[in-house]
Amino acid sequence: MIPFLDLKAINLAHRDELINAFTRVLDSGWYVLGNEVKQFEASFADYCNANHCVGVSNGLDALHLILRAYDIGAGDEVIVPSNTYIATWLAATYAGATPVPVEPCIDTYNIDPSLIEAAITPRTKAIIAVHLYGQPADMDPIMAIAEKHGIKVIEDAAQAHGALYKGRKVGGLGHAAGFSFYPGKNLGAIGDAGAVTTNDAELADKVRVLVNYGSKVKYHNEVQGFNCRLDELQAALLTVKLPHLDDETQRRKAIAKQYTEALQGLEVVLPQVMAAAESVWHLYVIRCKNRDKLQQMLAERGVSTMIHYPIPPHQQKAYSEFNHYNLPISEKIHQQILSLPISPTMTDEDVLDVISILREVQI
Ligand SMILES: *Cc1c(COP(=O)(O)O)cnc(C)c1O
Repeated sequence: MIPFLDLKAINLAHRDELINAFTRVLDSGWYVLGNEVKQFEASFADYCNANHCVGVSNGLDALHLILRAYDIGAGDEVIVPSNTYIATWLAATYAGATPVPVEPCIDTYNIDPSLIEAAITPRTKAIIAVHLYGQPADMDPIMAIAEKHGIKVIEDAAQAHGALYKGRKVGGLGHAAGFSFYPGKNLGAIGDAGAVTTNDAELADKVRVLVNYGSKVKYHNEVQGFNCRLDELQAALLTVKLPHLDDETQRRKAIAKQYTEALQGLEVVLPQVMAAAESVWHLYVIRCKNRDKLQQMLAERGVSTMIHYPIPPHQQKAYSEFNHYNLPISEKIHQQILSLPISPTMTDEDVLDVISILREVQI
């Protein structure tokens, strides 16, 4: 049995260090907004080459709080990719704004910059550029459009910790970025966690106030904020895992390379990475006409795969007001995609097994 993502094995590799960190926090008697969060924020800002990092409770809150801090809300529109995890859309909705879907490029699955301008109206306040599956969105044209129209670009970097665009790290490419440290992300906590990174000092300051009840000084509330803080415990655990992230990414890259070389010539579309980008391979997503059958045949032979995602946001019950939209590229992608196992703990042999089983069941 080849698991899709072996979280237990990933975290067991750091077991002693994680337990030491847990003990240190437990024994400190200080569990919310202290030195562990400060230290992780400094290391993660440094890792992303961004000037500021604010730890938050999860990736959805990171995106939502950025929108709030930019005063984006009721009556405003936020451009989002039509194919993304629903959290990208929910962040806009949560702030009171309307998500406006724009179709992706069929080859990279990231938002198509050439379609963005047609979606801009006088109400548009921001574009959320998702770095889907670990590959950065094509940021230069997106930033140029945003500059022309005086709107913000927010990176949804939940799947792309450490990915590069023209040699520059995600998290410092747009006006602000939201990261998730959900356990299954490339940098995963032992629970929920997230962060905002930015080079905009004022934005960082506003997010820091919003996460903590709208307060800078205890019991003095400047605005009606939220409780969306990153825990000391999760920060300490993330501080253990961050120094190992690049090694794990290297392993993901090697697995992706092995798949791409060995799967040429099969009746499947392999992932494509722009010349300007270096993916961190959060997911290795292939496309296939008989996706459901392929998934079933792989499952029968012990290979776990997943679909990211089976239903596009505009077809979800939660977004019934969008159900009549026609977004053919996104719909086609959702019908055909399949994510192969890509756990940094997979051995070369596991990868070869997946490859030979895929060749064997070729449909
Ligand atoms: C995981 C994810 C999020 C949300 O992060 P959470 O920490 O689960 O709230 C947002 N956007 C994308 C693209 C994601 O993959």
